[in-house]
Amino acid sequence: MRRPIVAGNWKMHGSRAENARLIEELLAHSAAEPAATCVLCPPFVYLLETGRLLRGSVFSLGGQDVCADAQGAFTGEVSAGMLKDIGCEYVIVGHSERRLLYRESDQLIARKFAAAHAQGVLPIPCVGEQLAEREAGRTREVIARQLDVVLELCGAGPLEAGAIAYEPVWAIGTGRNATPEQAQDVHAFIRARIGARDARIAAATRILYGGSVKAGNAAELFAMPDVDGGLIGGASLKADEFLTILAAAGPG
Ligand code: PEP
Repeated sequence: MRRPIVAGNWKMHGSRAENARLIEELLAHSAAEPAATCVLCPPFVYLLETGRLLRGSVFSLGGQDVCADAQGAFTGEVSAGMLKDIGCEYVIVGHSERRLLYRESDQLIARKFAAAHAQGVLPIPCVGEQLAEREAGRTREVIARQLDVVLELCGAGPLEAGAIAYEPVWAIGTGRNATPEQAQDVHAFIRARIGARDARIAAATRILYGGSVKAGNAAELFAMPDVDGGLIGGASLKADEFLTILAAAGPG
C-alpha cells in the first residue's frame, strides 16, 4: 500500500511572522497520526526556522528547488547537501514555474533530481503539459519526454521511496483543477511508463496531483486509484484549507 504524500509549496510567500502563525495553527490542529506524509516547502531563507518550529511534529521539511551541482562557484544556488544539512527530507524539482519562468530544461531538472537523490534528499520531480499541448492532444508525449529524461539519467530506482508530481500547467494557480478522471488518466500513464522499466518500483511510486487542489476537491481527486496525494500551492498557505486537504488523503 502506498502512503500518500501531501506537500505544501509555499512558493515565494510568507514572512517570519506569517510562517510562525501558519505553523502554529497547523501544529495545533493536525492529526496526531495522519494517514499521509505531510511536507512543508517554504522559501530557502525560512527553511531553517521552519524546521526548528516543526521539530518533533508530523510535518517534514522540503525545499522548492536545488542546484544540480554539489558545490562550488554557483552564486545564489543552494546544494542538495545544504538542504540535507538543515534537515530537508524532500525537494521539489522541475516545478513548471522553474521550467517556464527560468527556462529550466528537462536535462537540468534530471541533474537536479540526481543531485538530490545522491544526498539522500527525496526529489519530487514535477511534470505537466501546458493548455495548448493538451488541446493539441500532446499531453502524453510531453509527460513522457519530461519523465524519460529523469529515468534515463537516474533509472527508476530513486522513485521507489520517492514521488513524482503531475501538475498540468493550466491548472496551477488558476482555480481550474483537472477532473479526477483527467488526473487518473495521466497518473496511470506515468505509472505504466515507469512500469515499463520496473513494475515493482512503479507500484511503489507515489504520484501526486497538483493544480488548484482545495479543501472542496481534494477528496475526489485523492480517491482515484493512481493519485497518491497532492502538491498544493495556494491552499497550503491557509491552515484550515491545508488541514482539510491532509485529512482527505488516506492510504491508496
Ligand atoms: C503548485 O504550485 O505546485 C500548485 C499546484 O499551485 P496551486 O495549488 O496554487 O494551483
